[in-house]
Amino acid sequence: MSETNLPYWLEVPAIKGDLAPPPKNASIVIVGSGLSGVSAGYFLQKHGFEDILILDYKTEESATYRNCGHILHGTVESMKAFSEIHGYEKAKELWQFSIDICQVVQSTILELKIDADYRRDGYLVIAIDKSEELECQVSVKLLKKAGFHSEFIDAIEISKLGFKNCLGARFEKGSAQAHPVKFRNGVLNEYLRGGGKYHSDVKVTKLEDSSSGVLVQTDKGPIHSDAVVIAANAYSPLFSDFFKTRRLIEPFRGQIITSKPLKHQFKVKYPHSFDHGYEYALITEDNRLMIGGWRNYSPTKEVGIYSIETNPLITDGLKKFAENHYEINEEIQWQYSWAGIMGASQTSLPFIGPTNSDRIFSCAGYTGHGFSWAHGSAALLARIIAGSSVPSVAKYFSPKTLGLK
Ligand SMILES: Cc1cc2nc3c(=O)[nH]c(=O)nc-3n(C[C@H](O)[C@H](O)[C@H](O)COP(=O)(O)OP(=O)(O)OC[C@H]3O[C@@H](n4cnc5c(N)ncnc54)[C@H](O)[C@@H]3O)c2cc1C
Repeated sequence: MSETNLPYWLEVPAIKGDLAPPPKNASIVIVGSGLSGVSAGYFLQKHGFEDILILDYKTEESATYRNCGHILHGTVESMKAFSEIHGYEKAKELWQFSIDICQVVQSTILELKIDADYRRDGYLVIAIDKSEELECQVSVKLLKKAGFHSEFIDAIEISKLGFKNCLGARFEKGSAQAHPVKFRNGVLNEYLRGGGKYHSDVKVTKLEDSSSGVLVQTDKGPIHSDAVVIAANAYSPLFSDFFKTRRLIEPFRGQIITSKPLKHQFKVKYPHSFDHGYEYALITEDNRLMIGGWRNYSPTKEVGIYSIETNPLITDGLKKFAENHYEINEEIQWQYSWAGIMGASQTSLPFIGPTNSDRIFSCAGYTGHGFSWAHGSAALLARIIAGSSVPSVAKYFSPKTLGLK
């Protein structure tokens, strides 16, 4: 295979932490330096917390640098599926929260003046079979009934937008996109300016709770802390007994390919997906086609995997998918192909709040929609830890309650 397996986004290097041994004590230890971890550090500082220590291990393997840059309203489910799982009233509440957290991302970008190639041009969910077309139509109706923006676009209009072999689509104007590494680095820099500590290549192996605090066991020795935030998404069960024993989060591998810059003028550059979200795409600032997914066609569905090696079956499937669904009169040359590990939540919602210990908190379990959810969940978690008021929707994410089921 000729493609490099470095993610396109990592052409902008992810800032790493101090490689010296970490301090032996910290008030709050955050495990993870991806979007969740740096956002937790940033928001906790905003609430006045000090002496915070972020730890990470194998920094660049994190999903944060390996995603498709979509910042989307909703979750991985359509409004139709979401209403069937949770009931319409709860689905509406959760949908509104998903919009609010996209707004939090935008506010952070503006407040910190982060140059993250942020654009807010909408999101297109494209149907490639009749069942999905119907799902789009029903979802548009449900979303409109609830007062959210959503539009149905028919097959003729979709073909005019440069797509082939597609049926109708659902368009939502509020969704956005950004460069995930630039955004994460921008938030991290603010945390570091605020006096936060960050150490890399420290593998957390266990969290031991006691009446005097939490002992964070690592391969560089134990760290005593008053509280811990688990911000390791798919990796959380590897060192947290709470997640391991309850199997609340399962890892699965996602894969993306990205072309060389194209001459072709795309009519839709903003985030779009096909096939019930199993394929997702974006046109980069330098006019490359970035497309990911296809795991549904792998015999294992790529579930239970922590290796970020790419699967050639998926790489080939994505290339063929692009040929079948984009009207591009130019040979596409692929340059990047990479994989990353996402965390599927058993409840289809993230786990935000205290776990079975009042000193060990989590913000994790985003099932593929982690850009806005990681940042927004961290904002919510900081409020919970600070004892500030929280929206009523927070109860749906309580790890303590969900973990008991
Ligand atoms: C292929 C792919 C495409 C995606 N596309 C999108 C998209 O377009 N839009 C979207 O919203 N979401 C997308 N996602 C999901 C999104 O990227 C993730 O949900 C989000 O990045 C999770 O961020 P996080 O910080 O919680 O976890 P991660 O970014 O995975 O970070 C985990 C952190 O935990 C640390 N860690 C792990 N184990 C240990 C340990 N033992 N000790 C110390 N530290 C440890 C790691 O070093 C890392 O810092 C995609 C994901 C993938 C893989």
